[in-house]
Parts: sequence; structure tokens; C-alpha cells
Amino acid sequence: MALASVPHGCVLAQPDDYAAARIRMVQLQLEGAGRDVRDPRVLQAMAEVPRHEFVPPPLREYAYSDSALPIGFGQTISQPYVVAFMTERLEPKPSDRVLEIGTGSGYQAAVLSKLVAEVYTIEIVEPLGRRAEADLRRLGFDNVRVRIGDGYRGWPEAAPFDAIILTSAVSEVPQPLIGQLKDGGRLIAPLGPSSYQELYLLKKRGEKLERQAILPVRFVPMTGEVLKGAPP
Ligand code: SAH
Repeated sequence: MALASVPHGCVLAQPDDYAAARIRMVQLQLEGAGRDVRDPRVLQAMAEVPRHEFVPPPLREYAYSDSALPIGFGQTISQPYVVAFMTERLEPKPSDRVLEIGTGSGYQAAVLSKLVAEVYTIEIVEPLGRRAEADLRRLGFDNVRVRIGDGYRGWPEAAPFDAIILTSAVSEVPQPLIGQLKDGGRLIAPLGPSSYQELYLLKKRGEKLERQAILPVRFVPMTGEVLKGAPP
């Protein structure tokens, strides 16, 4: 089968090579041995979104490798498995409106945009947000709205959301974000110190917030207002 002709780590120059590498990524890194992403819609979205368009050109040949990659400004695009895992656990539905804090490259927003009605995403580093917005427009992800700013206070005008995803680490989920989650809504966030976190899935049930640790992870820390009053 054609996929076998794309050995791991080879230089990918042709568009078809990228498509083949993407399918290998899904088979090996998401569904393969020791991996557990099973939602067919999520697997399909991961097979379609061109991750190489969201990584800096010098790193494109590694776009479908099993790792996070630097995107500039000390930030990273998450490992494909982590993106797929978080997306699946958010239980995205076609009618959903989702908020992302930490646009970064725009890749996670692009994956979500295939699965839900609208994605709202906020990025605090202006050049990153502008670049992601341009890439998302260029590639036709028209149901994503990008805002430059501190995501700590969410996006009140567009609230409430069916799901919220934080892609930078915090010690506790900012209260305004919990307030912008619908009843029955899902929120995923890496919680913990800067060196090591646990991915938590929170579900809002009336006044109650159910909370479950689902995966050990390492994300860059959230900056901005969340740091006020935090220990150095
Ligand atoms: N989801 C991204 C990965 C982002 S890395 C992707 O798919 O590429 C985390 C991002 O969160 C970084 O770009 C960082 O600048 C951003 N960030 C950190 N603190 C933030 C804040 N308070 N508000 C919005 N974005 C923030």
C-alpha cells in the first residue's frame, strides 16, 4: 500500500507525501498500539487537517512526527496525539460552539472547526494570533474566530459555550471560564505546576463541577492575568 512508501523521518516534499504521512500518523499515533483515540469523526478530522501548514516551514518535514514542535515565541504546537485526545474528550457535536484559550499555531482550532459549528479562540501573543488567523483564513477554516488578548476572562459576548479547551497550563481554571460554560458543558485544561501537569476533564452539572484527571501532560504555562498574585 502507498503508505509504506513513506518511511518515518524522510523528507516530505510532495503534497501527496503529506497526505500519506497524515494517514500513517492517524493509524500509528492515534489508533495504534498503546493509543486510544477511537471517535471516527475525530480520526477523520485529524486525517484531513494539514498539520504541516501550521508548523514553521523549516520544521515541515517533522509535521507528522509523534511530538510537539516549536512555533516561535517560546510556544509549541501540541503533539498530534494530545490534540486528538483532548478533542475526543471534549465530545464535539456538530451544533456546538467551542472556546479555545491559547490559539498558538491555530492547529487545534482547525481540528475542532471540522467537528463543531463555531470555534472562538484567543491568543495573548499578537504575532502568533495574527499568523494563525491568516493561516486559518487561507486554508478555509471559516468558522473559526480569532481574538488577540488575554483569555483569562474568556469571550463573554459569545458565551455560553458547549465546550472550553485550555491549551496552556494553569494551577486552577479561571473562574470566568467556568461561568461561560453551559450546563452540561465540558472543559479540558492542563492543571498543575509549570514542569508537569495532569489534563483534567471538568463537566458542569447544575451548580456542580465534576472533575476527573485523564492524562499526564506537559504544556507551556498560561501568562497574563492568571499570574497576578501567583507565587514567582
Ligand atoms: N493550541 C495551540 C497550542 C498552543 S500553545 C496549537 O494548536 O498550536 C499555548 C498557547 O497559549 C501559546 O500560544 C500561548 O501564547 C497562549 N497563551 C498563554 N497564556 C495565554 C492567555 N492568558 N490567553 C491567551 N493565550 C494564552
